[in-house]
Amino acid sequence: MKRVGAHVSIAGGVENAPLNAQAIGAKAFAMFTRNQRQWHSAPLAQASIEAFRRNCEEAGFLPGHILPHDSYLINLGAPEADKLEKSRKAFVTEMQRAEALGLTMLNFHPGSHLNLVDEDACLATIAESVNRSLDATAEVTAVIENTAGQGSNLGWRFEHLARIIELVEDKSRVGVCLDTCHLFASGYDLRTPEALDATLAEFDRVVGMEYLRGMHLNDAKQKLGSKVDRHECLGKGMIGIDAFVHIMRHPALEEMPLILETPNADGWAEEIKMLYSFTEM
Ligand SMILES: [Zn+2]
Ligand SMILES: [Zn+2]
Repeated sequence: MKRVGAHVSIAGGVENAPLNAQAIGAKAFAMFTRNQRQWHSAPLAQASIEAFRRNCEEAGFLPGHILPHDSYLINLGAPEADKLEKSRKAFVTEMQRAEALGLTMLNFHPGSHLNLVDEDACLATIAESVNRSLDATAEVTAVIENTAGQGSNLGWRFEHLARIIELVEDKSRVGVCLDTCHLFASGYDLRTPEALDATLAEFDRVVGMEYLRGMHLNDAKQKLGSKVDRHECLGKGMIGIDAFVHIMRHPALEEMPLILETPNADGWAEEIKMLYSFTEM
């Protein structure tokens, strides 16, 4: 079955995320495991960890349906040594937090070269950051998100994702999350079933469908190839609703988190309902 959800709030504690997801009819969810605007957070309390696990179990969320997202402060490809060190430390902590919660994935944005080093050097730094985080944990898969290509962010070409994976030692614990808005902004069309299939075929050729662990479902405010990362509600942007109908009927996208990060959280329950209605036609 399709596992549609949204990036829900952890206000009041991580244990509230599965409850917030259940309340909007979600069958998957994304979350931060800490305040993502700060470098440091207190360790997770044991009571919070236990409540999180219990709430997930009671609501029927398995680890494979939950895709935590790392802090936007982290740059695993940072060209400056002190910033790289800080980012790597914070990322390891996030991988360990996910592991403590019984989760098996952590979604992250690859990193930025800040125009200080070339692309390939930055991709190698990112892969080395991933290798270190995998060494520091046992169960969690590092899930690379494709990006819109804004500024000097890497990960907007499938070739970038493939290069990082090539340099990761443990291929069993690296995966990819495809964000539809980022795909479209970086120039991969998905407005028609044919275009979406061609984009997925290209992903399979360059990276490999076996690495796909989830998707972020967002419409895009800007046109194809704009490199602008601006999410829009489904069907209200430049991608249009057909892409999401096709995703909901696509046999290769079963049982993986399909996560809404659309602008209006109050509309998520409706968007989830609409998406599930596409599977019934
Ligand atoms: Zn993201
Ligand atoms: Zn985005």
